[in-house]
Amino acid sequence: MMPTFEKLNLRNSFTEFEKAKTLIPGGVMGIRRPYNFVPGEYPIYFDHAKGGTVYDIDGNKYYDFMCAYGPIIIGHREKEIDDCVIAQMQEKGFCFTLTQTYQNRLAEKFNELIPCAEMSLFVTTGSDATTLAIRLSRAYTGKKKVVRCGYHGWHDWCVEVKGGIPKKLYEDVSEFKYNDIESLEQCLKENKDDTAAVIITPLGHPLALKIEEPKPGFLKDVKALAHKYGAVLIFDEIRSGFRVSIGGAQKYYGVTPDMAVFGKAMANGYPISAVTGKKEILKEAEANVFVSSTFFPNSLSYVASLKTIEILQRDKILDNIWEKGKRFNTSIAKILEQHSEVGAELSGIPPMMYISFEKDEKGLYKKKRNDFYALLVRRGIFLQPYHHGYICYRHTEEDLNNAVQAIEESMLYLRDSY
Ligand code: PMP
Repeated sequence: MMPTFEKLNLRNSFTEFEKAKTLIPGGVMGIRRPYNFVPGEYPIYFDHAKGGTVYDIDGNKYYDFMCAYGPIIIGHREKEIDDCVIAQMQEKGFCFTLTQTYQNRLAEKFNELIPCAEMSLFVTTGSDATTLAIRLSRAYTGKKKVVRCGYHGWHDWCVEVKGGIPKKLYEDVSEFKYNDIESLEQCLKENKDDTAAVIITPLGHPLALKIEEPKPGFLKDVKALAHKYGAVLIFDEIRSGFRVSIGGAQKYYGVTPDMAVFGKAMANGYPISAVTGKKEILKEAEANVFVSSTFFPNSLSYVASLKTIEILQRDKILDNIWEKGKRFNTSIAKILEQHSEVGAELSGIPPMMYISFEKDEKGLYKKKRNDFYALLVRRGIFLQPYHHGYICYRHTEEDLNNAVQAIEESMLYLRDSY
């Protein structure tokens, strides 16, 4: 029993979800399904949002600390960006047989900001970008094996759930452990001289586990090893890009990969992603590697991305997020420390934080995790038990203070209940 806060009215969400299950397999897709939250406690459908706040279809209001799983870096419905997109629609159009010129502007921006950028290709989703980066690496090196670390999307070569995928499509891919350089060397040795690419999220953010920053020298060692074995080093910056710093985690940690992929925050919610890196590798796409899609050149997202990046630079958005995030994380850490017997742990960096629970033999941590996240959502703090959260520019001090207070009250409940 959780007497502390009243359970939310989620009737419309649940009614709609019942209908959905007859129309859409699983009702909703993948990571948005109720089992990824606390079933019965979380809404299933959102209706609208503004800034750092979202509203569900039952009219409940939440402080949105998931930020759409990362794309929302400034805030929901950011007028300056949306106005540009609307103007593009109304005054020029965005879907043509030939390309508009915005991709040149965006590629120039990447060259200016991202350490590894010399040439870029723009696609739509993070999965498009990671798959393209792998294909370019294989073409460039003439090798076939891939060594990976992190989540890289839903495509055949890397998705965790293997249903519907012949083994031959992923049998050349092996996995190493974040911050464990020996596990990388092991994979590379096993592949003999046939590794095309090492792909890694520069920040470790495995599902339902603590966020890990690179140990001193780790990323540098990854780069040296990849090169020793003749492989291309790819940073998967889909989450860290345009969030950890304007030049990505590669700039922040001072290690430049051969190629990197970006997505999520680069357009504040509009669908676009990028592969950027060394000219000699990217040039494989001139003839040897084919990449094209009806919607890849659709200019709305390019316009949105150019405007997003302009605002990030002009208003020093990321500095603001780091500052707020530091204060936020310090307050949370203090509360968790005060109630250390609960076994809650804070990990991450100021723009990306995660509260997880120390595992215990009886598996009590799972119950604590459920109660904690249920209590938070009842207080309008929208986070996710198995995935880290994010803060955006439009979160106000008041939003953050409300979240801190809800975390404190939830911790008191756990302390008294377990
Ligand atoms: N790489 C990373 C690190 C990601 O976090 C994600 C998405 N969560 C992807 C790749 C795949 O991106 P998308 O969902 O846009 O295909």
